[in-house]
Amino acid sequence: MHTLPKLPYDYNALEPHIDELTMTIHHTKHHQAYIDKLNGAVKGTKYETMDVDEILKNINEVPENIRTVVRNHGGGHSNHSFFWQVMAPNAGGEPNGNVGDAIKHTFGGFDKFKEEFTNAGLNRFGSGWAWLVVDGKKLAVMSTPNQDSPLMEGKIPILGVDVWEHGYYLLYQNRRADYLKAWWNVVNWDKVNVLFEKK
Ligand code: MN
Repeated sequence: MHTLPKLPYDYNALEPHIDELTMTIHHTKHHQAYIDKLNGAVKGTKYETMDVDEILKNINEVPENIRTVVRNHGGGHSNHSFFWQVMAPNAGGEPNGNVGDAIKHTFGGFDKFKEEFTNAGLNRFGSGWAWLVVDGKKLAVMSTPNQDSPLMEGKIPILGVDVWEHGYYLLYQNRRADYLKAWWNVVNWDKVNVLFEKK
């Protein structure tokens, strides 16, 4: 059975950038609902015990009658488990370590990367995610609709931001740009660097 991972910090830890109520509902209601629906769909199959990221990497092997549910809710489970990890209190700033060098090299500077990543989030129509991924040997910015994961396309996410309205509406209402601007203050670059080096 798939279960809700504990948040690695308190619900109010990302304030003032992300508020306590948003974090509480996002984790205990939205993320939990993805898990419940995933569990309901995979009950009695081998996907009940398979790591969710492994399921997504092989999404086309999932039986057709449950594939869409697994794509949406397994994607939701994986994406949110990942999202909590790449944020932290007292974080943000500029990345250092190997990922910092790779970002500068790939995008022509940290500010240019920030702009490209932010635009990926702003230009995602409706609900979805913006990502920094390792694609083969290189870094790339991309976005996905709904709860699709870069893992479904063979790409490895090392940073991602949820641009579903449920992630920011209470504090920012319709102002996705303000949310994305503030979000940089909670990016856990140490974790991003670990994910990058593991690749
Ligand atoms: Mn979300």
